[in-house]
Amino acid sequence: MKKQLRSLELDALKAWLSEQGEKPFRAKQIFEWVQKGITSFDEMTNISKALRAKMEESFLLDNVKIVKYLDSKDKTRKYLLSMNDGEIIEAVLMRYKHGNSICVSTQVGCRMGCTFCASTLGGMTRNLEAGEILGQIMTIQNDIGERISNVVLMGSGEPLDNYDEVIKFLRLVNHPQGLNISMRHITLSTCGMVEEIDRLAEEKLQITLAISLHAVSDDKRNSLMPINRKYDLNALLTACRNYTDKTGRRITFEYALIEGENDHEEEARQLAKKLRGMLCHVNLIPINPVEERGYKASSNKNIIRFQKILKNSGIETTIRRELGSDINAACGQLRAQHLEEEA
Ligand code: SAH
Repeated sequence: MKKQLRSLELDALKAWLSEQGEKPFRAKQIFEWVQKGITSFDEMTNISKALRAKMEESFLLDNVKIVKYLDSKDKTRKYLLSMNDGEIIEAVLMRYKHGNSICVSTQVGCRMGCTFCASTLGGMTRNLEAGEILGQIMTIQNDIGERISNVVLMGSGEPLDNYDEVIKFLRLVNHPQGLNISMRHITLSTCGMVEEIDRLAEEKLQITLAISLHAVSDDKRNSLMPINRKYDLNALLTACRNYTDKTGRRITFEYALIEGENDHEEEARQLAKKLRGMLCHVNLIPINPVEERGYKASSNKNIIRFQKILKNSGIETTIRRELGSDINAACGQLRAQHLEEEA
């Protein structure tokens, strides 16, 4: 089977070239072309035709294709993308004054089973390769003809459940000869895989770690997020403290507010108590309604009340602006709809 060229780091490319009896210095030239997001081998004009042909026999280049996209009134664009094997994923482009930001998927589907999330409905099909995560950025950059400067790993999938490929992706996307996106402009969001958070802390990357918290008691979190039965809140928050100690980076806690479920005053107070003294920030998100579960977004009044309690306890708290709610931009919603239509 052909390998994905976009997943290859410089060293691997060098090794392949020497296997082929080619000069290793070509690796840098080829790497630069690939990282530019070219979609055909013919674009590598400083590489001989013979070597290009050899590469074409061994590698796939263009690995992410646009199936369709939906534009929201707020300029958010949601892409439905297909992989070489026909698997379908989603990515979202958000345009801000400070630049273009992209939300990428890390797996086809997800196996974490959070009850409010559409990505996990059909389980996980497979992991994405580093080059397929990167490919989402390249394809969308090519589509809009503008640079993407910020990346959030918050699309379908659990990034830390695909640890090695995600770390490789981070190295590639941050590479000076590549897209050169600064680690500080990258956010990785996890449902709370504690062993992997500990491992990530050791990598000492300057990325922002976001934790999908969504509840302040183990009972409530167990019912919303099955991962909590493996790693409870205490273990998770201990790992978070260790993470900030090791990296010096502030953690973002995501808290999606569901009416009557996790938005009570007492829960805001509990949250403040749990996070006191931690290098962190809370991001409140009105949940995207999930009809099957009867989950509704909290009222504005409740969201603001929740924020006030946290702020009064000295915890920096923002309310996430809802983007793309008119185009099914919540995790996995567009893909789920597409798969339903296909069936
Ligand atoms: N698996 C990772 C990243 C993907 S989900 C994680 O759990 O963090 C990205 C974020 O969207 C998470 O915070 C997730 O909890 C949230 N999310 C999922 N479904 C949602 C919904 N219906 N409304 C609001 N946020 C949702």
